[in-house]
Amino acid sequence: TVPPPSVDLAGIDDLLTADEIAVRASVRQLCADRVDPYVADWFERGEIDDVRGLAKELGTLGLLGMHLEGYGCAGMSAVDYGLACLELEASDSGIRSLVSVQGSLAMYAIWKWGSEEQKQEWLPRMAAGEAIGCFGLTEPDAGSDPGSMRTRARQEPSGDWVLDGRKMWITNGSVADVAVVWAQTEDGVRGFVVPTSVAGFSAPLIKHKMSLRASVTSELVLDRVRLPASAVLPDVRGLRGPLSCLNEARYGIVWGAMGAARSALEAALTYAGERTQFGKPIAAFQLTQQKLVEMDLEYTKSLLLALHLGRRKDAGTLRPEQVSLGKLNNVREAIEICRTARTILGANGISLEFPVIRHANNLESVLTYEGTVEMHTLVVGQALTGHPAFR
Ligand code: FAD
Repeated sequence: TVPPPSVDLAGIDDLLTADEIAVRASVRQLCADRVDPYVADWFERGEIDDVRGLAKELGTLGLLGMHLEGYGCAGMSAVDYGLACLELEASDSGIRSLVSVQGSLAMYAIWKWGSEEQKQEWLPRMAAGEAIGCFGLTEPDAGSDPGSMRTRARQEPSGDWVLDGRKMWITNGSVADVAVVWAQTEDGVRGFVVPTSVAGFSAPLIKHKMSLRASVTSELVLDRVRLPASAVLPDVRGLRGPLSCLNEARYGIVWGAMGAARSALEAALTYAGERTQFGKPIAAFQLTQQKLVEMDLEYTKSLLLALHLGRRKDAGTLRPEQVSLGKLNNVREAIEICRTARTILGANGISLEFPVIRHANNLESVLTYEGTVEMHTLVVGQALTGHPAFR
């Protein structure tokens, strides 16, 4: 196969170390072997074949909880993790979501806020992909405002906790072995490590999605779920807990979205070079070139921003509003790049024979989850002006 034309005109690769380029190459190879040939079919059917086998392969490569230390995790840098997210999302946002939710949400919650016992029990298996995790924060009536959640956890005199409530739009829910569930308690919001085999827990699949179809999305139903006292995450109370995890996952999205953008840009470049109208390749028309140039420009700027934020994260200086800036810009630009690529492919742009419409549709979810455009605008707005405008 002919390699796609290079879209790295600015030479951003020169800012990466040889080790970082090697990590990227290994993820790219896994995606080429294990995801790319099948993912359009998974998207069309709304089902990932052998998701457990795929999770194990992702685990074997060290991609699950990749940036965490200890407990079988790979302990890689934030930039390595970002590059992995980019490659995974160049294949499909759904596959990157599987990895993000596992590593940055479910595993991170246990790693950061869990007891030693919880860490020992879950993290090594999750890092290996032998156990899949999900993260239940959103509810039918509580999305951008998770503080209004209704799921309740009540502690009985015996010490047992009893959970009642519903979570909505939960990635990996129906295939998860463990759910990190956030619930209101007398002490404010707390997190619980819930084995999904426990009585009263169910996770029906959400159907009819037109986006992120190569990803399991579920409702979580907690009907008098009884857990031992040891199930609560001991080290955090309040929304600080879930928000700290979301900040990790959002960081991955800053990079991941550029993977979808790169894939669409490469597809458009290749197509424009091959498609002839009015006697010449459409790439030779100025209007097409302008589109391609604008796409490459925004891709380049967004990738630089991702790398800058990654270096800050590795230096320990990354602030939440900086992650918001990255998520806001990069998802917005990625979706625009995919939509423009779609126009270059003409009618073929709407076909799953090409990756473009799949990426564009996927990014509609990415635009909304992990904080909507509006929420991140308000975070950046507050950082700029000092005025919170959330309510
Ligand atoms: P709402 O909060 O109802 O917002 C609707 C609109 O109102 C948005 O445009 C929003 O920005 C706007 N809005 C709300 N408040 C304000 C305000 N103050 N000012 C201005 N505008 C405002 N959640 C999980 O917990 N775990 C998961 O694994 C998970 N996976 C997901 C997977 C997919 C495919 C999708 C689509 C969602 C997933 N989510 C998950 C849920 C996601 O995080 C929420 O959808 C998101 O937080 C937005 O909540 P909402 O959909 O209820 O929208």
